[in-house]
Amino acid sequence: MQRLSRPIDAPKDFGLQGVIEVPEGAPVELDLRLESVMEGVLVTGTARASAKGECVRCLEPLGLEVAADFQEMFSYPDADDRGRARTEPADDAEEDEDRLFLEDGMFDLEPVLRDAVVLALPMQPVCQEDCEGLCSECGVRLVDEPGHHHDAVDIRWAALQGLAGSIQDGEKDEMSGDAPRSAHVDEKQEK
Ligand SMILES: [Zn+2]
Ligand SMILES: [Zn+2]
Repeated sequence: MQRLSRPIDAPKDFGLQGVIEVPEGAPVELDLRLESVMEGVLVTGTARASAKGECVRCLEPLGLEVAADFQEMFSYPDADDRGRARTEPADDAEEDEDRLFLEDGMFDLEPVLRDAVVLALPMQPVCQEDCEGLCSECGVRLVDEPGHHHDAVDIRWAALQGLAGSIQDGEKDEMSGDAPRSAHVDEKQEK
């Protein structure tokens, strides 16, 4: 068994693209445990890095420390599941597709790391758990402005809101003004 720690540069597309990811080239700290087993090498480890993204509610930039654990078996190319030398081509080709192999004594950890980091990242990152997002009327960030509200909807905006409701409901043909817009507005506000 062998333990090793080493820093690497984050590869491309390391995270959830456009949501939160570890920027390409950013430092990733790897702790690995390599165990020699019958059929290959069992790799267990943790990758630590800083991810960057933005809050899904208020779009504020955010940073997140991520620690992703992983474990993967890398098989000797000429060994079957039980470590015996392979005598004929396997007919269980489907099973083989999921297996990872050592090549010339090396293994490619990148896809393993990528999967682990993606799993460790939140799909819906928020700047803080109770982030209230943005005001739907003026776009101000609500956590910055406690008690923020609008007393009355401006009559000119009200007309636009009715229109937006009609379009969302797929009633583009009924924009003549006779659409029952008040019903649509009520529906929207309940959500
Ligand atoms: Zn936020
Ligand atoms: Zn507002």
